[in-house]
Amino acid sequence: MFIGESRHCVLAEDPGRDRIQAVVATVKEIQNFLCEHTASTQRGFVCLLCDKRFSCADTIRVHARDKHVDADIVYPCPVCQKVCKTRNIFAQHLYSSHPEMKGMKKKELNKFARNKW
Ligand SMILES: [Zn+2]
Ligand SMILES: [Zn+2]
Repeated sequence: MFIGESRHCVLAEDPGRDRIQAVVATVKEIQNFLCEHTASTQRGFVCLLCDKRFSCADTIRVHARDKHVDADIVYPCPVCQKVCKTRNIFAQHLYSSHPEMKGMKKKELNKFARNKW
């Protein structure tokens, strides 16, 4: 394990080190999932797999990504190794616990994705 600013790069570029680097779903894959497994009703949107209801398109999209499409993906924090279950939790953790990571764009967080064991 390297110390210092190159540490997170090493983790990202060395997937064999612990977990296998995961590829997060593309916008299109999530879109396909939404077409197949969700329905819109007069009162909002419903996930047909778990029967949960959502009032707006954004929240069902996040639900679909975190609970279904990318359900096998976790985000180990490159700084403190805490494992976050979703990209949003990871982003929150990173920005609040490690101010030095604030410049990181959400898109860049994808490279930290790892498959669950
Ligand atoms: Zn669901
Ligand atoms: Zn951390």
